[in-house]
Amino acid sequence: MKPALIVHGGAWDIPDEAVDPCKSGCARALAAGWAVLSQGGHALDAIEAAIMVLEDDPVFDAGYGSHLNLDGRVECDAIVMNGATLHAGAASTLQHVKNPIRVARAILEKCPHMMLVGEGAERFAREQGVALCDPEELISEAEQEAWLKCRNDKHAAEHHRGHEQGTVGAVTLDEDGNLFAATSTGGTCCKLPGRVGDSPLIGCGCYADSEAGGVSCTGYGEAIMKIVMAKSAVDLLRPSSICVDSPAGAPGDAARLAAREAVHLLAKRTHGHGGLILLDRHGNPGFAFNTPRMAYGYVALDGNFVTAV
Ligand code: ASP
Repeated sequence: MKPALIVHGGAWDIPDEAVDPCKSGCARALAAGWAVLSQGGHALDAIEAAIMVLEDDPVFDAGYGSHLNLDGRVECDAIVMNGATLHAGAASTLQHVKNPIRVARAILEKCPHMMLVGEGAERFAREQGVALCDPEELISEAEQEAWLKCRNDKHAAEHHRGHEQGTVGAVTLDEDGNLFAATSTGGTCCKLPGRVGDSPLIGCGCYADSEAGGVSCTGYGEAIMKIVMAKSAVDLLRPSSICVDSPAGAPGDAARLAAREAVHLLAKRTHGHGGLILLDRHGNPGFAFNTPRMAYGYVALDGNFVTAV
Protein backbone atom coordinates (compact mmCIF):
# COMPACT_ATOMS: atom_id res chain seq x y z
CA MET A 1 0.00 0.00 0.00
CA LYS A 2 1.22 3.52 -0.76
CA PRO A 3 1.49 5.61 2.43
CA ALA A 4 -0.42 8.88 2.64
CA LEU A 5 -0.43 11.93 4.91
CA ILE A 6 -2.52 15.07 5.27
CA VAL A 7 -2.33 17.74 8.00
CA HIS A 8 -4.16 20.94 8.92
CA GLY A 9 -3.46 23.98 11.06
CA GLY A 10 -6.99 25.25 11.52
CA ALA A 11 -9.79 26.92 9.61
CA TRP A 12 -10.39 30.54 10.51
CA ASP A 13 -9.87 34.04 9.15
CA ILE A 14 -6.08 33.60 8.99
CA PRO A 15 -4.50 37.04 8.52
CA ASP A 16 -2.07 37.71 5.66
CA GLU A 17 0.98 37.90 7.92
CA ALA A 18 0.26 34.42 9.31
CA VAL A 19 -0.07 32.75 5.90
CA ASP A 20 3.61 31.92 5.39
CA PRO A 21 4.22 30.79 9.00
CA CYS A 22 1.14 28.53 8.74
CA LYS A 23 2.35 27.06 5.45
CA SER A 24 5.84 26.41 6.74
CA GLY A 25 4.42 24.90 9.94
CA CYS A 26 2.36 22.49 7.84
CA ALA A 27 5.41 21.68 5.69
CA ARG A 28 7.50 20.86 8.77
CA ALA A 29 4.70 18.64 10.09
CA LEU A 30 4.55 16.84 6.73
CA ALA A 31 8.32 16.36 6.83
CA ALA A 32 8.15 14.86 10.33
CA GLY A 33 5.29 12.49 9.46
CA TRP A 34 6.70 11.55 6.07
CA ALA A 35 10.11 10.76 7.56
CA VAL A 36 8.32 7.93 9.39
CA LEU A 37 5.93 6.79 6.64
CA SER A 38 8.40 6.85 3.76
CA GLN A 39 10.74 4.54 5.73
CA GLY A 40 7.97 1.99 6.19
CA GLY A 41 7.15 3.25 9.70
CA HIS A 42 3.85 2.98 11.52
CA ALA A 43 0.95 5.39 10.93
CA LEU A 44 0.64 6.00 14.70
CA ASP A 45 4.28 7.08 15.01
CA ALA A 46 3.86 9.29 11.95
CA ILE A 47 0.74 11.01 13.25
CA GLU A 48 2.31 11.66 16.64
CA ALA A 49 5.42 13.13 14.98
CA ALA A 50 3.38 15.40 12.70
CA ILE A 51 1.04 16.63 15.44
CA MET A 52 3.92 17.32 17.86
CA VAL A 53 5.50 19.69 15.33
CA LEU A 54 2.22 21.56 15.00
CA GLU A 55 1.67 21.65 18.78
CA ASP A 56 5.14 23.11 19.33
CA ASP A 57 4.54 25.91 16.81
CA PRO A 58 2.90 28.97 18.42
CA VAL A 59 1.30 29.99 15.14
CA PHE A 60 -1.23 27.21 15.82
CA ASP A 61 -3.80 26.86 18.61
CA ALA A 62 -2.50 23.66 20.19
CA GLY A 63 0.12 22.95 22.85
CA TYR A 64 2.42 25.98 23.32
CA GLY A 65 0.72 29.18 22.13
CA SER A 66 -2.86 27.93 22.55
CA HIS A 67 -5.64 30.44 23.11
CA LEU A 68 -6.18 31.25 26.77
CA ASN A 69 -9.44 30.59 28.56
CA LEU A 70 -11.34 33.22 30.50
CA ASP A 71 -9.06 32.69 33.51
CA GLY A 72 -5.96 33.27 31.37
CA ARG A 73 -4.89 29.63 31.32
CA VAL A 74 -4.21 27.17 28.53
CA GLU A 75 -6.56 24.16 28.50
CA CYS A 76 -5.82 21.62 25.78
CA ASP A 77 -7.72 18.73 24.23
CA ALA A 78 -6.46 15.96 21.94
CA ILE A 79 -7.56 12.68 20.39
CA VAL A 80 -6.07 9.97 18.22
CA MET A 81 -8.09 7.16 16.63
CA ASN A 82 -7.17 3.82 15.09
CA GLY A 83 -9.21 3.05 11.97
CA ALA A 84 -8.65 -0.72 12.20
CA THR A 85 -9.99 -1.20 15.74
CA LEU A 86 -12.18 1.95 16.06
CA HIS A 87 -10.35 2.48 19.33
CA ALA A 88 -9.60 6.08 20.33
CA GLY A 89 -7.52 7.75 23.03
CA ALA A 90 -8.72 11.20 24.05
CA ALA A 91 -7.76 13.72 26.72
CA SER A 92 -9.39 17.00 27.62
CA THR A 93 -8.79 20.16 29.70
CA LEU A 94 -5.06 19.48 30.12
CA GLN A 95 -3.21 22.36 31.77
CA HIS A 96 0.26 20.94 32.35
CA VAL A 97 1.12 19.14 29.11
CA LYS A 98 3.25 20.45 26.23
CA ASN A 99 2.21 17.78 23.76
CA PRO A 100 -1.36 16.66 24.41
CA ILE A 101 -1.14 14.17 21.53
CA ARG A 102 1.28 12.14 23.66
CA VAL A 103 -1.37 11.83 26.37
CA ALA A 104 -3.98 10.84 23.79
CA ARG A 105 -1.61 8.16 22.47
CA ALA A 106 -0.88 6.84 25.96
CA ILE A 107 -4.63 6.56 26.58
CA LEU A 108 -5.13 4.81 23.23
CA GLU A 109 -2.39 2.29 23.90
CA LYS A 110 -2.43 1.76 27.65
CA CYS A 111 -5.72 2.83 29.22
CA PRO A 112 -8.84 0.71 29.70
CA HIS A 113 -10.91 3.85 28.98
CA MET A 114 -11.09 5.91 25.80
CA MET A 115 -11.18 9.39 27.33
CA LEU A 116 -9.75 11.04 30.45
CA VAL A 117 -10.08 14.67 31.51
CA GLY A 118 -8.27 17.17 33.70
CA GLU A 119 -6.35 16.00 36.74
CA GLY A 120 -7.08 12.31 36.11
CA ALA A 121 -5.74 12.56 32.56
CA GLU A 122 -2.61 14.31 33.78
CA ARG A 123 -2.02 11.78 36.56
CA PHE A 124 -2.34 8.97 34.01
CA ALA A 125 0.01 10.83 31.64
CA ARG A 126 2.65 11.15 34.34
CA GLU A 127 2.35 7.48 35.23
CA GLN A 128 2.95 6.67 31.56
CA GLY A 129 6.11 8.77 31.43
CA VAL A 130 4.72 11.95 29.87
CA ALA A 131 6.43 14.85 31.66
CA LEU A 132 4.19 17.60 33.04
CA CYS A 133 5.12 21.28 32.85
CA ASP A 134 4.18 24.54 34.55
CA PRO A 135 1.02 26.05 33.03
CA GLU A 136 2.98 29.29 32.32
CA GLU A 137 5.28 27.39 29.95
CA LEU A 138 2.34 26.96 27.56
CA ILE A 139 1.52 30.66 27.29
CA SER A 140 2.94 32.63 24.36
CA GLU A 141 3.44 36.38 24.51
CA ALA A 142 0.95 36.99 21.69
CA GLU A 143 -1.80 35.05 23.46
CA GLN A 144 -1.07 36.73 26.78
CA GLU A 145 -1.45 40.13 25.10
CA ALA A 146 -4.65 39.11 23.34
CA TRP A 147 -6.10 37.83 26.59
CA LEU A 148 -5.27 41.08 28.39
CA LYS A 149 -7.06 43.05 25.68
CA CYS A 150 -10.05 40.76 25.92
CA ARG A 151 -10.18 41.09 29.68
CA ASN A 152 -10.31 44.86 29.45
CA ASP A 153 -13.04 44.97 26.86
CA LYS A 154 -16.38 43.30 26.90
CA HIS A 155 -16.27 42.97 23.11
CA ALA A 156 -13.54 40.40 23.54
CA ALA A 157 -14.04 38.63 20.23
CA GLU A 158 -13.22 41.82 18.33
CA HIS A 159 -9.67 41.69 19.60
CA HIS A 160 -9.16 38.24 18.27
CA ARG A 161 -10.56 38.90 14.85
CA GLY A 162 -7.58 38.93 12.54
CA HIS A 163 -5.16 36.92 14.60
CA GLU A 164 -7.12 33.80 15.31
CA GLN A 165 -5.17 30.60 15.33
CA GLY A 166 -6.18 27.13 14.43
CA THR A 167 -6.53 23.73 15.89
CA VAL A 168 -4.23 21.13 14.33
CA GLY A 169 -4.91 17.70 12.90
CA ALA A 170 -3.57 14.92 10.72
CA VAL A 171 -4.56 11.68 9.03
CA THR A 172 -1.99 9.01 8.20
CA LEU A 173 -2.02 5.76 6.22
CA ASP A 174 1.04 3.53 6.30
CA GLU A 175 2.23 0.90 3.82
CA ASP A 176 0.65 -1.87 5.90
CA GLY A 177 -2.74 -0.17 5.60
CA ASN A 178 -2.91 1.20 9.17
CA LEU A 179 -5.07 4.34 9.18
CA PHE A 180 -5.05 6.89 12.02
CA ALA A 181 -6.64 10.32 12.53
CA ALA A 182 -5.80 12.86 15.23
CA THR A 183 -6.77 16.35 16.40
CA SER A 184 -5.20 18.62 19.01
CA THR A 185 -6.41 22.04 20.17
CA GLY A 186 -6.32 24.77 22.77
CA GLY A 187 -10.00 25.36 22.01
CA THR A 188 -11.60 28.73 21.48
CA CYS A 189 -10.30 32.04 22.77
CA CYS A 190 -11.61 33.13 26.17
CA LYS A 191 -13.68 29.96 26.53
CA LEU A 192 -15.18 29.25 29.91
CA PRO A 193 -12.85 27.11 32.04
CA GLY A 194 -13.89 23.49 31.61
CA ARG A 195 -15.35 24.02 28.14
CA VAL A 196 -14.84 21.03 25.84
CA GLY A 197 -15.32 21.51 22.12
CA ASP A 198 -15.60 19.04 19.27
CA SER A 199 -11.88 18.31 18.95
CA PRO A 200 -11.36 15.50 21.51
CA LEU A 201 -14.80 13.95 20.97
CA ILE A 202 -14.85 10.77 18.92
CA GLY A 203 -16.92 11.34 15.78
CA CYS A 204 -16.99 15.13 16.21
CA GLY A 205 -13.43 16.45 15.85
CA CYS A 206 -11.90 13.19 14.67
CA TYR A 207 -12.88 9.78 13.31
CA ALA A 208 -11.19 6.92 11.49
CA ASP A 209 -12.51 3.69 10.04
CA SER A 210 -10.21 1.66 7.80
CA GLU A 211 -13.27 0.53 5.81
CA ALA A 212 -13.95 4.14 4.76
CA GLY A 213 -11.37 6.79 5.73
CA GLY A 214 -10.06 9.13 8.42
CA VAL A 215 -11.02 12.74 9.22
CA SER A 216 -9.82 15.62 11.41
CA CYS A 217 -12.02 18.71 11.82
CA THR A 218 -11.49 22.32 12.82
CA GLY A 219 -13.75 25.31 13.34
CA TYR A 220 -16.52 26.31 15.68
CA GLY A 221 -16.81 23.30 17.98
CA GLU A 222 -20.32 24.00 19.20
CA ALA A 223 -21.53 23.70 15.58
CA ILE A 224 -19.31 20.77 14.57
CA MET A 225 -20.64 18.71 17.48
CA LYS A 226 -24.21 19.17 16.29
CA ILE A 227 -23.61 17.24 13.10
CA VAL A 228 -20.94 14.87 14.47
CA MET A 229 -18.93 16.12 11.53
CA ALA A 230 -15.95 13.74 11.44
CA LYS A 231 -18.17 10.64 11.55
CA SER A 232 -20.56 12.20 9.02
CA ALA A 233 -17.64 12.75 6.65
CA VAL A 234 -16.34 9.20 7.14
CA ASP A 235 -19.81 7.84 6.38
CA LEU A 236 -19.70 9.73 3.08
CA LEU A 237 -16.56 7.72 2.26
CA ARG A 238 -18.21 4.32 2.69
CA PRO A 239 -18.50 2.26 -0.49
CA SER A 240 -22.31 2.61 -0.44
CA SER A 241 -22.39 6.42 -0.07
CA ILE A 242 -23.49 8.74 -2.87
CA CYS A 243 -19.99 10.29 -2.97
CA VAL A 244 -18.29 6.96 -3.65
CA ASP A 245 -21.11 5.49 -5.71
CA SER A 246 -21.32 8.41 -8.13
CA PRO A 247 -20.29 7.86 -11.77
CA ALA A 248 -16.58 7.10 -12.11
CA GLY A 249 -14.45 10.24 -12.21
CA ALA A 250 -10.76 10.80 -11.55
CA PRO A 251 -9.26 8.77 -8.68
CA GLY A 252 -9.80 10.73 -5.51
CA ASP A 253 -12.98 12.49 -6.64
CA ALA A 254 -14.96 10.75 -3.91
CA ALA A 255 -12.60 12.06 -1.22
CA ARG A 256 -12.93 15.62 -2.48
CA LEU A 257 -16.70 15.30 -2.78
CA ALA A 258 -17.13 13.81 0.70
CA ALA A 259 -15.13 16.67 2.27
CA ARG A 260 -17.27 19.25 0.49
CA GLU A 261 -20.53 17.50 1.39
CA ALA A 262 -19.66 17.36 5.10
CA VAL A 263 -18.83 21.08 5.25
CA HIS A 264 -21.99 21.80 3.25
CA LEU A 265 -23.95 19.92 5.92
CA LEU A 266 -22.28 22.01 8.64
CA ALA A 267 -23.34 25.22 6.91
CA LYS A 268 -26.83 24.01 6.04
CA ARG A 269 -27.82 22.53 9.39
CA THR A 270 -25.92 24.75 11.84
CA HIS A 271 -24.88 27.88 9.91
CA GLY A 272 -21.53 27.18 11.55
CA HIS A 273 -18.06 27.66 10.14
CA GLY A 274 -15.22 25.19 9.93
CA GLY A 275 -13.31 22.78 7.80
CA LEU A 276 -11.82 19.31 7.65
CA ILE A 277 -9.13 17.19 6.10
CA LEU A 278 -9.47 13.53 5.21
CA LEU A 279 -7.91 10.52 3.57
CA ASP A 280 -10.13 7.89 2.04
CA ARG A 281 -9.22 4.25 2.66
CA HIS A 282 -6.97 4.22 -0.40
CA GLY A 283 -5.08 7.31 0.81
CA ASN A 284 -6.67 9.88 -1.49
CA PRO A 285 -6.71 13.31 0.21
CA GLY A 286 -9.71 15.61 0.54
CA PHE A 287 -10.25 18.93 2.29
CA ALA A 288 -12.92 21.62 2.49
CA PHE A 289 -13.76 24.69 4.56
CA ASN A 290 -16.31 27.49 4.64
CA THR A 291 -14.11 29.89 6.61
CA PRO A 292 -12.09 32.51 4.72
CA ARG A 293 -8.98 30.34 5.02
CA MET A 294 -7.69 26.99 6.27
CA ALA A 295 -4.03 25.96 6.67
CA TYR A 296 -3.37 22.48 5.29
CA GLY A 297 -0.84 20.31 3.55
CA TYR A 298 -0.58 16.84 2.07
CA VAL A 299 1.91 14.62 0.31
CA ALA A 300 1.02 14.42 -3.38
CA LEU A 301 1.22 11.22 -5.43
CA ASP A 302 4.64 12.24 -6.78
CA GLY A 303 5.93 12.64 -3.21
CA ASN A 304 5.93 16.46 -3.29
CA PHE A 305 4.61 18.38 -0.29
CA VAL A 306 1.64 20.57 -1.14
CA THR A 307 0.84 23.29 1.43
CA ALA A 308 -1.75 26.03 1.22
CA VAL A 309 -3.68 28.55 3.27
N1 ASP B 1 -12.77 23.12 16.97
C1 ASP B 1 -12.00 23.79 18.00
C2 ASP B 1 -12.86 23.95 19.22
O1 ASP B 1 -14.01 24.32 19.09
C3 ASP B 1 -11.45 25.11 17.58
C4 ASP B 1 -10.73 25.13 16.25
O2 ASP B 1 -10.85 24.22 15.45
O3 ASP B 1 -9.99 26.08 15.99
O4 ASP B 1 -12.36 23.77 20.30
